[in-house]
Amino acid sequence: MTDVTESGARGETAPGTGLQISGLSKVFTSGKKTVTALQDANLHTDRGSFLALLGPSGCGKSTILRILAGLEQPTSGSTRVDGRSPKDLRAYNELGIAFQDSALLPWRNVYQNIKLPFEVSGKPVDHDYIEELVELVGLKGFEKAKPAQLSGGMRQRVSIARALVLKPSVLLLDEPFGALDDMTRQRLNLELMRILAAKPATTLLVTHGISEAIFLADQVAVMSPRPGRVKEVMQIDLPRPRTPDIQRSPEFHAYVDQASELLFGAGGAATEDE
Ligand code: ADP
Repeated sequence: MTDVTESGARGETAPGTGLQISGLSKVFTSGKKTVTALQDANLHTDRGSFLALLGPSGCGKSTILRILAGLEQPTSGSTRVDGRSPKDLRAYNELGIAFQDSALLPWRNVYQNIKLPFEVSGKPVDHDYIEELVELVGLKGFEKAKPAQLSGGMRQRVSIARALVLKPSVLLLDEPFGALDDMTRQRLNLELMRILAAKPATTLLVTHGISEAIFLADQVAVMSPRPGRVKEVMQIDLPRPRTPDIQRSPEFHAYVDQASELLFGAGGAATEDE
């Protein structure tokens, strides 16, 4: 484990590595009310690695993701992913994002929704690649279906394919499977790993699922609320590819216990979706 709040690695990571979050703070102000959503968050990962941000609601996870995506400006501090600022990530179409709400256009079918980023960016449409992604996310045969004809899990698959269609080097996932039932969520987590093995990207996942974070990630940053801070970064040394049976291993359970202790203190309850 690395205590990044005390880490000497702050600012020492060479340009071109994965996520670099340095001294990141965010204060929201509305009228006389201020909310310190984040205070001095520091995180560094390798290019192509998978980081999960784990913590209770309101601890600033989405704020970090939104700052990385350039959707929110930090009050202080800076971020780089693969050496690029949020502005450059967007300008060079290096960013893929998927949210809990699949945010598909209801009047467009699966194929047309996945195609959308080509139209927005003005890049030439790569029909073969769209077909490849449709197959990769398991939607072959559903290309002409409209979102209303799909299950929640299928809609999220479309959303992941759309996030990947411009071949981004960076993937930001904000609880993309959070609204789904547990079985669908587990299945899609397996699929996500398979997809990332085929299309590697520096990935950040926001989640409040302990098992999900440990199952998917190379590193899990455990956050504490009010004000949001990175409490500790756990290195998850489980072999890849990860299969469901790994969740029954003593090593996996030890990681779950460790994360639970960080979140709830010694003897705290370790429920699945705290
Ligand atoms: P999480 O993703 O961990 O649930 P968020 O990053 O969404 O947490 O929010 C962190 C804190 O910042 C919360 O207290 C939330 O209410 C507050 N917050 C988030 N966005 C805004 C905003 N646009 N205006 C005011 N407060 C906000």
